[in-house]
Amino acid sequence: NSKHYFRAAKAYLELGQLDKAEETNLQSLEYCLDQLQREAILQQGQEILAKSRMTKVRQNDVSSGSEEREIDTAQLQYTRLTCEGFRMYLSGAYSQAVEQFKSALNILSRPEGLTIEDDELMVVWFVYGISCVKSGNTRNLQTAVEKFNAIIARTDTFPAAYYGLGLTHMAFKRYKDAEEALMLGLKRIKEVKERKVYVWPQTDKTIDETDVTIVAKLMEDMLKECKHPPKPDAICKFHAETDNSKREIYISDPDYKGHICIKCRADCSIEFHAQCWKPSENQTRGKHNWKEILDTQCPTPGCWGLISEIFICRPDQEKSLKLSSQSDPKPKSQQPLRPKLKMKSDSASKIERKMEKKKQKMEKKQEAQ
Ligand SMILES: [Zn+2]
Ligand SMILES: [Zn+2]
Repeated sequence: NSKHYFRAAKAYLELGQLDKAEETNLQSLEYCLDQLQREAILQQGQEILAKSRMTKVRQNDVSSGSEEREIDTAQLQYTRLTCEGFRMYLSGAYSQAVEQFKSALNILSRPEGLTIEDDELMVVWFVYGISCVKSGNTRNLQTAVEKFNAIIARTDTFPAAYYGLGLTHMAFKRYKDAEEALMLGLKRIKEVKERKVYVWPQTDKTIDETDVTIVAKLMEDMLKECKHPPKPDAICKFHAETDNSKREIYISDPDYKGHICIKCRADCSIEFHAQCWKPSENQTRGKHNWKEILDTQCPTPGCWGLISEIFICRPDQEKSLKLSSQSDPKPKSQQPLRPKLKMKSDSASKIERKMEKKKQKMEKKQEAQ
């Protein structure tokens, strides 16, 4: 039955007997009624196909002599790299897939000039970008943004690039930017009549995200998340807008570089990026001298409190570093909430005490007389 053929095909695939593998896999598909199982069979079919293409490329590579023209070698290398990239992507090894696609694109940029169809170039940019996003590495995420933007600049028939852009911004926790990209993508889908579906390089397998119906559904779901993003871990109070930063601080952001939280004696709690801190006249700022702002004025306008605690959070440290003021050892509960009243009552009791002393002196004098 179907399962037996499926297992046999798998064994053939592992043994490298790819023709046999392909044949038995097809037989397995013929007898299969279960939808989930069918998908597994189709997946295995793609693996077999990718492997046999790669084997052919390798055989050609070995047989090609040194007199072969450079461009043929480049073609073979390019084909092998994109095949490998696809295989790595399928197996979830995204960082390795990134390397394969990157090398494939490097071949295209060499001066001897291997040229490929525009559509294929878009596909390689796209799969490179998607592998970059899935790898989760910050530098890769920036590359992904570049690639998706390059596709958008070049063609109208690749709305999946907007999906990729949305995905990248979401990975960076930039929900507003993601929302913008996704809205634009959905708008493009409505406007552009020409529909194209692309396949993975060197295979017949469709890239699902290039199917307009599929990608529109994906983008709509992502849009919902962008409109109600998860609560940030902190919000920068003094945010200075720059290209690569946002007010919301997410510790899970691949680009998270740490933040500072200060507390004052009047119970203000203020969070901000280290680079966004604007020191007042008698305060300084630096990587190592946060200590110096302890016991200086709280930055909340109108607050009388002095800064009593500083928490320095860094991406490489699980626990934040705490700096505390040493100047007032009194526990918080004993501190007055309104110092002005305290001063009044203070002076009042002083006067009372003075009056008491005066009275005692008077009494002593009277006794002496
Ligand atoms: Zn900031
Ligand atoms: Zn305060």
